[in-house]
Amino acid sequence: MKIAVLGAGVIGVTTAYYLLRDGHKVTLIDRQPGPGLETSFANGGQVSASHATPWSNPSAPLQFLSWLGRANAPLAIHYSTDPALWRFLFRFLANCRAGPSKANAAIVLRLALYNRGLLADIRSQTGVEFAAEERGVLHLYRSEREMRRALAAADHLRRLGLELEDLNAAACTALEPALESRRGTLAGGLFSPADLSGDAYAFTHGLAQYCADAGVQFELDNAIARLVHSGNRITGIMTERGVITADRYVLALGSYSPVLLEPLGIRIPIYPTKGYSATVPVTNADAAPRISITDDHNKIVISRLGDKLRIAGTAEFNGYNTDLDPRRAHAALDAGAALFPDAMDLDAAEFWAGLRPLTPDGVPVIGRTPFTNLILNTGHGTLGWTLACASGRIAADLATGREPEHDISGLGMERF
Ligand SMILES: Cc1cc2nc3c(=O)[nH]c(=O)nc-3n(C[C@H](O)[C@H](O)[C@H](O)COP(=O)(O)OP(=O)(O)OC[C@H]3O[C@@H](n4cnc5c(N)ncnc54)[C@H](O)[C@@H]3O)c2cc1C
Repeated sequence: MKIAVLGAGVIGVTTAYYLLRDGHKVTLIDRQPGPGLETSFANGGQVSASHATPWSNPSAPLQFLSWLGRANAPLAIHYSTDPALWRFLFRFLANCRAGPSKANAAIVLRLALYNRGLLADIRSQTGVEFAAEERGVLHLYRSEREMRRALAAADHLRRLGLELEDLNAAACTALEPALESRRGTLAGGLFSPADLSGDAYAFTHGLAQYCADAGVQFELDNAIARLVHSGNRITGIMTERGVITADRYVLALGSYSPVLLEPLGIRIPIYPTKGYSATVPVTNADAAPRISITDDHNKIVISRLGDKLRIAGTAEFNGYNTDLDPRRAHAALDAGAALFPDAMDLDAAEFWAGLRPLTPDGVPVIGRTPFTNLILNTGHGTLGWTLACASGRIAADLATGREPEHDISGLGMERF
């Protein structure tokens, strides 16, 4: 079968990989000159099932209120009359209730656990390298209150099958000696030993190269204008270089998915949520972590990517604006530098901003559409790197008419 995948981020490329393996003729279309150059480019690097609890959870509303108006707060909302923003925020709040939040965490966790085996298989089958550190993810808490809240969420994830260890401050520093100088500032941590970290761009680029070598056709530097349809079938993709046709289509356009779906009458509540990262050369290897860290208080993640540290965080609701606000970019870097003060050359930091394709429930949108030959694989928000292989496998199954081996309930667009 001829299948076109729209979008060559980490989600589109993993989808193309599985379609290729299943013996299909695949075309991957992207407006950028290479794969992985938008949100998949410089994210936090964590492949972390332990982040399954969605941002929309019971503690979010109060936390959000406490951050409003602070220039360097982890969250900023640029007030606008955009109805999409207000609809999104309203739905987000509805998902903060304990019941929906727990149910959403369960769906995401199952997907993340399914992902683990698939990522291992891709690595062994393709040899793709991405500076992987298979040392787990350590979540740090600064106060007893933060720790108590985290333990409650952790209990839910543990009951669903995630291995998580509670650690006191001394155990955190024993596990990651680079934290030793900050031990006095820690209340404790939660350690997820089977999580890992690595460079999502290196993975996306390497896997795309593997796919290209094996015959996947890349239509790069080619912006998609619209999807053409006749009745309930997609008949082609109108690009700036003409129409591309296929038997089936998988849409993996990240934050831009709603823009191209709306003219088809498909409305999915994905809102672009800007985040920042700084990539900083390590100057003192002993003072830099190897275990990937989540600093819950400052809402940042820190991952070792070879001889660099990636520090990422912050959430900004400002439509499709991708400008880099130096204050917010520096806030994430400063928080990382405070934790590992002697590890890196701050003056050489490279800053980046990307738009997370966030859904109000924190669950991606993977599934069929009213168009019989169009499948969605989008809305991965804060966890696209964590969920890419599982999502790609499921989308490839659906596109080719095979029943996925993973239970897909709760993933489809019908939930909206
Ligand atoms: C600061 C930050 C930190 C993060 N940290 C983590 C983390 O630690 N772990 C984790 O799991 N996730 C993390 N994420 C989330 C993760 O990066 C995203 O979920 C993931 O990259 C989304 O992948 P995607 O392929 O859906 O989107 P993208 O990578 O954006 O891919 C979509 C593609 O569609 C193309 N496209 C869009 N419109 C058009 C058009 N009209 N025509 C042609 N092509 C088009 C774009 O060029 C792009 O290449 C983070 C995100 C941010 C911003």
